[in-house]
Amino acid sequence: MQLEAAHAVEITKLVEYVDRKEDPLIQVVRTHQHNTDSAVLQTARCLKTEVQRETRKMKDSIVEKTKERWHGKRMHGQLPHSLDEKLVDNEQSYHWLKSGEIKRETESTIVAAQDQAISTNYFKNKILKEEIESKYQLCKQHEETIDHLTSRCPILAKNEYLMRHDKVSTHVLHSICKALGIEITDKWYTHRQRSYSK
Ligand SMILES: [Zn+2]
Repeated sequence: MQLEAAHAVEITKLVEYVDRKEDPLIQVVRTHQHNTDSAVLQTARCLKTEVQRETRKMKDSIVEKTKERWHGKRMHGQLPHSLDEKLVDNEQSYHWLKSGEIKRETESTIVAAQDQAISTNYFKNKILKEEIESKYQLCKQHEETIDHLTSRCPILAKNEYLMRHDKVSTHVLHSICKALGIEITDKWYTHRQRSYSK
């Protein structure tokens, strides 16, 4: 099967080369091929479609297998599980990954956090089976999971979550002002709220 595939790829490439090359000798070959309704040419055309179809099938199967592997891991795969819910917009949720505007290291840390695969006390205790307290040291009430750290801790809510909330709203406000053509600073984080009622 692999030999047949290699043969198909080679013939297809050869015909593409003959079709494209601007060399006088190759041009003679090309004219000859077209005038004689060449069997090689016909074969190549059939094979080209075949090769494209096979390549597409192969790509689809790789994507599918990667997805299966991701879903199958114990911790990696938390995110796709939670995104399968009907309320979540998958397209929007993955937009930040597709736009490629952040550094690779930051990207992998965020993905690990979303998958609950960061070395929290809970992770060390339950997954790595280390002898360590699984609760969060600051509140000492709840398990130190990513969900707890990012949005559920009553201690962090008083300050850290509030600051995060304000930063996000500043960014949103800056974007709205920009879209409306209202005079703003270059950097969104230096944006100061003022009255826009006029
Ligand atoms: Zn807490």
